[in-house]
Amino acid sequence: MSRRRSRHDSVRKTTTTPDLSARIDLHCHSTASDGTLTPAQLVRAGAAAGLTVMAITDHDTTGGWAEAEAARPTGLTLVRGAELSCIWHGAPGWPIALHLLAYLFDPAEPVLAGKLARLRENRARRGERIVDNLRADGVPISWDEVAGYAAGGSVGRPHIAQALIRAGLVATTAEAFASEWLGARYLVPKEDLDVFDALRGIRAAGGVAVFAHPRASKRGRVVSDELIEALADEGLFGLEADHEDHSPAERAQIRALAERLGLAVTGSSDFHGTHKTVALGAFLTAPETFEKLVSAATGVPVLG
Ligand code: AMP
Ligand code: FE
Ligand code: FE
Ligand code: ZN
Repeated sequence: MSRRRSRHDSVRKTTTTPDLSARIDLHCHSTASDGTLTPAQLVRAGAAAGLTVMAITDHDTTGGWAEAEAARPTGLTLVRGAELSCIWHGAPGWPIALHLLAYLFDPAEPVLAGKLARLRENRARRGERIVDNLRADGVPISWDEVAGYAAGGSVGRPHIAQALIRAGLVATTAEAFASEWLGARYLVPKEDLDVFDALRGIRAAGGVAVFAHPRASKRGRVVSDELIEALADEGLFGLEADHEDHSPAERAQIRALAERLGLAVTGSSDFHGTHKTVALGAFLTAPETFEKLVSAATGVPVLG
């Protein structure tokens, strides 16, 4: 048994028998970031889709938690989380952007809360710059319109995509991410959190960290196994293997790496409402993995 595997066994505090009929989706977005369902609509849609456990994981914000909690249908367990925009500076050549899912952390812990607030402020400034660049080329959209689509939540490129669709320049969000639009020509990088800093921040706030879609190569360069090993040494809990952006071969590679490093493996939809085509519950996490995740967290409890 590896050193890392024994570390995760040691954080297991309960002997709860996992509910093997549970349907667990640990990665879903609402209008608090770039999803299209409000947090209340999201939890109702989760229950209607037959989920028994769902996580709300908006980009860089806990702003949807309260509404999701208040609207949580009976029988649905709610996991409060967020998806943190991170960057790895150690990659050869230039840095690689990546996402860490943070679960069940204390939203009032000031260091992490401050990091999230800075990420959101940076998202807004960067969104404005992208809009300025588009306007300079004669594209008839405005920052007010884009900020209106974000409606106080974390601003992202999908909100700018909405304006491009409204202006009749593209037909779908996916088209707006082509290289001639938001994918490259009008892409302005965000100022993301150093991934090790983010991981330590999540853990210091009592949370559990899972590396989101670690092999999603269509989003850009992916990180090396060595980075994942270093993150495992810093207390990463798991890797998201089952995700629509991974091929079957990539899922198998992630499982093998997780096994080698003693990490958990999750599966989730990364649901974004109509900004993406994936359905709630399209990919699921195993009940025993969920039990371990809950046991490893000390920030806030699961609800329900
Ligand atoms: P941002 O966080 O502003 O950099 O925008 C990235 C977000 O855009 C991701 O979280 C996805 O929700 C969405 N996204 C990225 N690539 C695509 C794509 N090809 N089609 C549709 N949505 C995408
Ligand atoms: Fe997103
Ligand atoms: Fe992501
Ligand atoms: Zn996501």
